[in-house]
Amino acid sequence: MKNLKRNFILTLIIFASFMIFSQNMVIKNNFINTNQNQLIVTSAFSKNDNLTATNKSKYKMAIVIDDFGSYDQSGVQTLLNCPCTLTCAVLPNVDYTEQNIKDFSDKGHEIILHMPMQSHVNLPLDWYGPVFISSYDTPEKVYNKLNSCLKQFDNIKGFNIHIGSGVSRNKDLMKVIYNFAKENNLYFLDSRTIMTNATENACKETDSIYLGRDVFLEADKNRSYQGVCYRLYEGAEIAKQKGYSIVIGHVGAEGGENTAKAILDTLPKIKEMGIEIVPLSEIYNDLVKIKTNAS
Ligand SMILES: [Zn+2]
Repeated sequence: MKNLKRNFILTLIIFASFMIFSQNMVIKNNFINTNQNQLIVTSAFSKNDNLTATNKSKYKMAIVIDDFGSYDQSGVQTLLNCPCTLTCAVLPNVDYTEQNIKDFSDKGHEIILHMPMQSHVNLPLDWYGPVFISSYDTPEKVYNKLNSCLKQFDNIKGFNIHIGSGVSRNKDLMKVIYNFAKENNLYFLDSRTIMTNATENACKETDSIYLGRDVFLEADKNRSYQGVCYRLYEGAEIAKQKGYSIVIGHVGAEGGENTAKAILDTLPKIKEMGIEIVPLSEIYNDLVKIKTNAS
């Protein structure tokens, strides 16, 4: 009888150990992945971290807003009151370049250059502004143009492309852009507006860190308030899956007031989901650390 009781307890212990072990395996399988981008999640958890703990944010989301500086300032004033740190991509050499840089950096937002580059279709030249990178530029010209635009920015962390589908499908030009970023200690954000791998391949071949847009906030045709809210939650879900996410929205005609209001209104819920809104440089620096540790 005694033996029977002992065997029963022993079986219970083995069964309980197996359950705990398999539970851990599920957690590990969810988060350990060979994809470099997903490693950030494993680094966010220490061995004994409880996944259900909600007291501190474990997932990061960067909200990048394009088209600052332009004459169409819709959404700009609303975003100026945003209580989280936005990453503001500002067009060079246009009406409100200086003003928007000053106002948003004074409030602690991150500023990046929104560099106009040529489309693969013919567009009116004034859509690009006074300085843009053409699909036929030599590397030297690309460097000169980027340098001249950067002069308007202080403490800049990175840049992305305004329009640019002609340039971003050209791997050689994209390699020039990644090399420029590297030499100037800047990050480059790929907005992923075209269906080619030219930018990702250029990134690999220059041994750079890849930052790519996960969600466009105004992906719906009518750019509705509800649509932007939905996309913000989609960005938050992606952050929970891979540890971080990058969403891009717009001030002005491409987004404006609807986008700005949706960001402000969804912030409390996104925070509740355990997501921290961070400047894009923070995600970039995390990826740099992971790359350095892996090599
Ligand atoms: Zn743009």
